[in-house]
Amino acid sequence: MKLPESPHLRLFLRRLALGTGLAVFFTWLALRQPQGDDGRLVQEEFLAMGTIVSISLYLDTDQDRDAALDALDDARHDLETYAQRWSAWGDGALGRINRQLDAGERVEIPAELQPLFDAAARLGTASGGLFDVRVGRLVELWGFDDEAHYRSAPPDEAAIEAAVADLAGAPPLLPGAAEYGPAAGARFDFGAIAKGEATDRIVETLREAGYPNVIVNAGGNLRAAGRRGGRAWRIGVRHPRPGAQQRVLATLDIDGDEAVITSGDYERYFEADGERYHHLLDPRSGMPARGLQAVTVVAPSGALADAASTAIFVAGPGQWRDTARALGVDQVFVVDAQGRIEVTAALARRIDFAEGSAAITVP
Ligand code: ADP
Ligand code: MG
Repeated sequence: MKLPESPHLRLFLRRLALGTGLAVFFTWLALRQPQGDDGRLVQEEFLAMGTIVSISLYLDTDQDRDAALDALDDARHDLETYAQRWSAWGDGALGRINRQLDAGERVEIPAELQPLFDAAARLGTASGGLFDVRVGRLVELWGFDDEAHYRSAPPDEAAIEAAVADLAGAPPLLPGAAEYGPAAGARFDFGAIAKGEATDRIVETLREAGYPNVIVNAGGNLRAAGRRGGRAWRIGVRHPRPGAQQRVLATLDIDGDEAVITSGDYERYFEADGERYHHLLDPRSGMPARGLQAVTVVAPSGALADAASTAIFVAGPGQWRDTARALGVDQVFVVDAQGRIEVTAALARRIDFAEGSAAITVP
C-alpha cells in the first residue's frame, strides 16, 4: 500500500483508514474470487480520500502489465488531486471557499469545482434537502470532520438548534451558480458525494487510456465498468452488524457501467449512554438520522449513487422509497434498526441476500 508524502495527511488517512478498513475488507473478501484470471487482473491498493482505495483492471491479452500499473499510478495521483481540491478542511479550492465563508465573505465558485457544485445542487434539490452539501458546520459540531475530533457525548441541544437555524437561513445552493454567500451558517462538505464522483472520473480516465474493464473500491463504495473476462464483476455488500457467520449481507454481479454505494451508521460513529451517534446527519433536526442501519444504492453513476445513499438514509423508514423515486434511483435496499431488509423490485431481481436474511420486496 502506498501512502502520500505529507506526514500530516498520512496520519489523518491512517486514522480514517482504520475506521473504514474493516468495511472494505469485508467487501473485498467477497470480491476476491478464485484464480483463473491468467495474470490478466492487475490491482493496486492505496490510501486516498480518507479510505482504502483498490483499483483492479482486467487486461486484454495483448496489454502490458507494466503499462497497466503505470495507468493505476496515474489514477492514484488523480485521486489525490481530487481529495486535495475537494477537502472541506484542507488547503485546496474547497477549503479556501470555506475559509472565506467563515470570514463572512461572498465566494466565487472556481471553474474546476463547478461540475461538482452543480451535481450537488441538483441532487440536493431533488432530495428535498435531505442531501445537503452545506452541512459542514453541523458535521464539525458533531466532530465527524476528523476522527481526532470524535466526541464522547453529543453537542448541546442549544448549539444543535442554533446550527440548524443558521443552515435553514443560509441561501440555497442553486445549479449553475457561479457565486455563493455570504452565508454564516453554511460550510461546504462534499463527503457524501466526493467518493462517488471521484470513482466515476477514475473509471472514465482509465477507459480513455484503453482500460474498459475496471473496478474501483473506495472504502466499500464500488464503481465498475466492463467485465472480468468471461464473467461480470462480482461484489459483496458488508453486513451492517456483521457476526462471525455473516459478514457479507448480499452479493451481486455488475455487468457494465455501474456503482454500488452504501451509507451506513457503522462507518463513523461514537457511542454515549448506550446510544449510537453516527455521521449521517438530518439537516432538519441537526441529529444523526434515525431508523436505518444501512442503505445500498445501485445506479449508473457513482456521484448519483453516493448522494442518493446518503439522502435515502436520512429519509428513513417509511420515507425512503419516495426519496429514491425523487432522485430517480430504482435499485435500492435498506436495512432498518431491527435488521429487516426492504429491497426494490428492480434490485430484488438481481441481488442475492445471504442465507437467513429475508428481504421484503417493495414496488
Ligand atoms: P461515507 O462517506 O462514510 O461513505 P456518505 O457517503 O453517506 O458516507 O457521506 C457521509 C458524509 O457526508 C459525512 O461524513 C458528512 O461529512 C457528510 N454528510 C452528513 N450528513 C449529510 C447530509 N445530510 N447531506 C450531505 N452530506 C452529509
Ligand atoms: Mg453518500
